[in-house]
Amino acid sequence: RKRVIRISTGSKGLDAVLGGGFQTMSISEVFGEFRCGKTQLSHTMSVIAQLPKDMGGAEGKVAYIDTEGTFRPERIAQIAERFGVDPETAQDNITYARAVNSEHQMELLNKVAEFFVGNEYRLLIIDSIMALFRVDYTGRGELNERQQKLNQFLSKLTHVAEEFNVAVLMTNQVQSDPGANALFAGADGRKPVGGHILAHASATRILLRKGRGEERVAKIQDSPDMPEKEATYIITNGGIND
Ligand code: ATP
Ligand code: MG
Repeated sequence: RKRVIRISTGSKGLDAVLGGGFQTMSISEVFGEFRCGKTQLSHTMSVIAQLPKDMGGAEGKVAYIDTEGTFRPERIAQIAERFGVDPETAQDNITYARAVNSEHQMELLNKVAEFFVGNEYRLLIIDSIMALFRVDYTGRGELNERQQKLNQFLSKLTHVAEEFNVAVLMTNQVQSDPGANALFAGADGRKPVGGHILAHASATRILLRKGRGEERVAKIQDSPDMPEKEATYIITNGGIND
């Protein structure tokens, strides 16, 4: 029988508002402006997912689909040291794939799903979900097709998360100019891209933003079991922390 496992983010404050961390068998989305820590969180969780359960981990391997070319093995090594893990082992437990277009992103997801058979993967990172779709489908007339392809990708993601007891963490961008949609955006005017199809697929949605000084703020916007709360965190050499 599969049991939901919660994987720590590296920040006790953020874990607390999440009810212990990001859940397996579920899709979580973090979105926010540039440099707010989406990729750093992805790196941090790629190490933590490997840790014993009493350290917030899930004792599993990690698959990492990178659509922006921002994965850095050296960061994995630094974060591993924080948790007393051998850096090379931590790197080896991460199956890395760089997607070059949206079709390739789908192919990689299918490949990754094959790796999951008979292996203890517990975390799948997609950093970021929309970047390549936005490049491949630019015109207004292409929006329907984009959303259709996106829907296929997200259906597969949902299936993979449930079948293999994996936590899916996907990062997302915000609309640079909410414009006419400003009324529907949060009080701060920041709205994730991807429309209702993406909103529907994400069980948990978290807005990240810059706070005072080096501080960052995470706000739960959508959760199956937790109230809308905020937590602050920082980015360190050892990854996301309080
Ligand atoms: P984008 O939308 O551009 O992809 P992002 O949300 O993914 O942005 P990250 O790349 O996760 O942003 O975060 C970048 C921030 O992390 C920068 O402010 C950078 O200074 C900080 N950072 C990166 N490495 C370290 C480190 N070793 N120690 C402390 N801070 C770091
Ligand atoms: Mg990034």
